[in-house]
Amino acid sequence: MSGKLYLVATPIGNLEDITLRALKVLKEVDLIAAEDTRHTLGLLNHFEISKPLISYYKQNEKVKSEILIEKLNAGQNIAVVSDAGTPGISDPGEEIVKVAIENNIEIVPIPGACAFVNALIASGMSSKEFEFIGFLSANKKERKDKLEEVKFETKTLIFYEAPHKLKTTLESMLEVLGDRKIVLARELTKIHEEFIRGNISTILEQIVDIKGEFVIIVEGNSISKKDVELDNLNEKSLEDHYKFYENQGFDKKEIIKKIAKDRNTNKNEIYQYFLNK
Ligand code: SAM
Repeated sequence: MSGKLYLVATPIGNLEDITLRALKVLKEVDLIAAEDTRHTLGLLNHFEISKPLISYYKQNEKVKSEILIEKLNAGQNIAVVSDAGTPGISDPGEEIVKVAIENNIEIVPIPGACAFVNALIASGMSSKEFEFIGFLSANKKERKDKLEEVKFETKTLIFYEAPHKLKTTLESMLEVLGDRKIVLARELTKIHEEFIRGNISTILEQIVDIKGEFVIIVEGNSISKKDVELDNLNEKSLEDHYKFYENQGFDKKEIIKKIAKDRNTNKNEIYQYFLNK
């Protein structure tokens, strides 16, 4: 019988955030696959757990996944952990899960700390609907292209960022998204935990020498892409508005209904207009 693959969340700073279940699993598995074995060894030593470790990081995920699958197929139970937080969230984990599914191996997530979830729930921004983006590219053009892509997103946006890139990222955000409200969730679960709230431009002035780990929560756009498109459509002549829907394959009756809805007017008025043309 194959072993089980456990995805074990570990603390993001405060070691007291490890769960009883995570400790139990780490004690009982045959092997722990860790993003950085030295880092995880520190965690295991703290909780007096002694276990064989194997390295499993982004660059060797594919090769190592095959080795882990062989061991799982041979009946070993394996825990995957990353340096901090939940494996698979901007951390290695996704690849082994895919291959494990292909091999009919049971996957067991062990819940625990995750930086973005805690940043979001304490941010004061809408947590009803949100988009997790994670790390933006270090390449300026790619970074801006991604920001352009989400510019009209009305959901709360969530980003991870490395400390030394925080300023550059906020500058790109200011340029593309405008001076939005943001929250910097800094050093979560650690001694210097804080939430810095304000507009991007004000925060940029405040963070000259700031250090630590950050999650950036950005307020969604109050104007959606649909609103902008609708504004553009309504500025067109009625003929061009008609052509816009005609090109999408709608028939006359549907087009008149759509134009009336867009312009918040009676469909008979639109019908009469085109009748007299
Ligand atoms: N897997 C992790 C999780 O579940 O959140 C995320 C790992 S990702 C490589 C590291 C990024 O997460 C950091 O650059 C930072 O943006 C965020 N992060 C991790 N720990 C944090 C903390 N204690 N406070 C604020 N942000 C943190």
